[in-house]
Amino acid sequence: MIAQISCGFETNFDIESFESIIRNDPQTSGLPNSNNPIQIPLVFHVVYLDGDIEGAPGSTNISLTQITECLAKLNSDFNSSIFNVEFCLALRDPENNITNGVERVNGSVVSGYNNFGFIPYSNETEIKQLGQKWSNLDYVNVWVVSKITSSENQVGIAYFPKTTSDNLDGIVIDYNYVEGLSSVLTHEMGHFFGLYHTFEGGSETECPEDIECDMIEENDETEICCRNQGDHVCDTPPHKKEFGCPTGNNICTNDNYTEITNNIMSYYNCLSRVFSSGQYQRMAEVTSVQNVLKEQIDAHVYWCKHVQNYQFYN
Ligand SMILES: [Zn+2]
Repeated sequence: MIAQISCGFETNFDIESFESIIRNDPQTSGLPNSNNPIQIPLVFHVVYLDGDIEGAPGSTNISLTQITECLAKLNSDFNSSIFNVEFCLALRDPENNITNGVERVNGSVVSGYNNFGFIPYSNETEIKQLGQKWSNLDYVNVWVVSKITSSENQVGIAYFPKTTSDNLDGIVIDYNYVEGLSSVLTHEMGHFFGLYHTFEGGSETECPEDIECDMIEENDETEICCRNQGDHVCDTPPHKKEFGCPTGNNICTNDNYTEITNNIMSYYNCLSRVFSSGQYQRMAEVTSVQNVLKEQIDAHVYWCKHVQNYQFYN
């Protein structure tokens, strides 16, 4: 049986004020499209357990190959001319030194890390400050941890842009999911660019509020309604917080489940998973309005190369 996995993204910020900013100024000018892709450098901070050998089987000190395979999966999951981004490993560190985009730090010096790994809001700051500071204006920081200890079986955590301190901004991921088949990093990157879970506003027992909106014919009222409820994206039907890969009809819409079970921002684990067009549009809007990675995007000095042509500096 496949374990049910979930994510530590929390809506413990002021959703209404966040959404009013996005809603009132949904500019996407200057953002990536088919002719203007943006390259986004990532830095992976591998927070390993004391004694774990780099690249050994089962080691928390994961290999560069595992990371590049995960990156290739991330790039194949992000596949749209609406939000045309390409992720890569950073080629330069904040001091302009050559890097391979991977930092390795011994996490065993952090309180609780040996037994519990990453504990949100507890040893989080300590873990995220172990290595050198990589600005969230230039890089997406990814911390690869031995495990995440929290209420649910969480394997990834991310924040919405500008909803936490710059020092904590970025993605945390369980090392077991840094590989070429998992979409966990893609899911967390969706949060990083401002996507909610597709069941946002609902629960295991309740449908999200926008069930009625979905019933209305296409018109302005529908548009306003679905952009302001649930996951704030109109082409992702409401559904309960569910796992697995259900078939048949979605009780929240009475339509076939396939409309939503393939979405990356759900907790479903069907084989093929994608973002919807509306989600790509929202990521472009949020990136523009919240100035995500603004220095990197404005500079047009991309500290990375195409992944397939990537040369490693070791
Ligand atoms: Zn999530």
